[in-house]
Amino acid sequence: MIPSKGYAVHNSKDLLAPWNFERRDVGANDIQIEIQYCGVCHSDIHQVRSEWGPSRYPMVPGHEIVGNIIKVGNNVKNFSVGDLAGVGCMVNSCMECSNCKQGEQQYCEKGKTIWTYNSVEADGKTPTYGGYSNQIIVDENFVLHVSKNLPLDGVAPLLCAGITTFSPLRKWKISKGHRVGVLGLGGLGHMAVKFAAAFGAEVTMLSTSLHKEADAKKLGAHYFCLTTDPQQVRQLKNHFDFIVDTVSAKHNYDMYLKMLRTNGVHICVGIPPEPIQLTGPLLLGNSRSITGSNIGGIPETQEMLNFCAEHNIVSDIELINIAYINEAYERILKSDVKYRFVIDMKTLK
Ligand code: NAP
Ligand code: ZN
Repeated sequence: MIPSKGYAVHNSKDLLAPWNFERRDVGANDIQIEIQYCGVCHSDIHQVRSEWGPSRYPMVPGHEIVGNIIKVGNNVKNFSVGDLAGVGCMVNSCMECSNCKQGEQQYCEKGKTIWTYNSVEADGKTPTYGGYSNQIIVDENFVLHVSKNLPLDGVAPLLCAGITTFSPLRKWKISKGHRVGVLGLGGLGHMAVKFAAAFGAEVTMLSTSLHKEADAKKLGAHYFCLTTDPQQVRQLKNHFDFIVDTVSAKHNYDMYLKMLRTNGVHICVGIPPEPIQLTGPLLLGNSRSITGSNIGGIPETQEMLNFCAEHNIVSDIELINIAYINEAYERILKSDVKYRFVIDMKTLK
């Protein structure tokens, strides 16, 4: 076993604090990564606090991981010591079912997707621990190549916030001629704005925070709507082809459904702990749909990272000392982050 250190919680009420633990030895198919940066996703907070049901503790959160490869197993073919590498939300899956074979490991039909933390390894008992730590050991099939040409701290959030917004925009072929509303300007929202604008869509930021208007436009949004102003909301009736909903808390789905044109699609990527409530006739009346999307598969994650390298796209971040993590969580909960916190893992030493 390999002695490791990180920040962990031991129950749902705990604050994150330093913790020493062990990781598995580097197997034949494994890659050992010295973590340089890890992004802070709202999903970390949901899981630390058991908001999606009981979590596994102790928990080391973190699934937006980038760093240097320091060791590779004997069978590893596509990576070498010294390469930059990334790890997102998954570290393994069955690799045999049709979804896994098609590279959609997040939808493993055998239910064997192994998440980067708050999950157990293939042996059914060893807990997985995430990226708020000095290193991680991951099967080669779940490691991504990272370009040397982008600032590495800004790349970290691409591993979750990036792929989670890139994937549904690609699936629905969102491009020039589409009107897209991005709901919520946080970690996912700011990447959704960047990608939707890069794909040529007309982008409107739908936000509860008036002070984010200028930033939204700098990120690529063409228009801004303050969703707490009923008059601005009314003006967007039957307006959008798509809404990408990144909101992390309970909100009014009916209000946004009314903004969709005939055949418009409301894409949920945010995961509020409460069940979704909506009024049926708002769907039927205009043949609107509501759908969801979970991260993206490994091949598509690599495609997204390559697209970002080609188009010079990274996340806008606030780099933090790991000792600041509990305050960072409080600020995320107040929608006060521009637009992703990233932990500088040097500060763990
Ligand atoms: P975040 O940085 O906290 O951003 C969420 C944004 O939603 C806030 O900045 C705020 O934007 C808006 N918001 C917050 N509370 C709201 C409320 N009550 N009503 C309306 N708007 C509200 O969070 P994130 O890291 O982007 O994650 C967003 C959600 O996506 C979380 O639930 C997370 O778990 C989920 N997630 C899902 C996937 C997936 O695979 N589907 C992957 C990663 C994360 P404004 O200030 O602009 O209103
Ligand atoms: Zn995430």
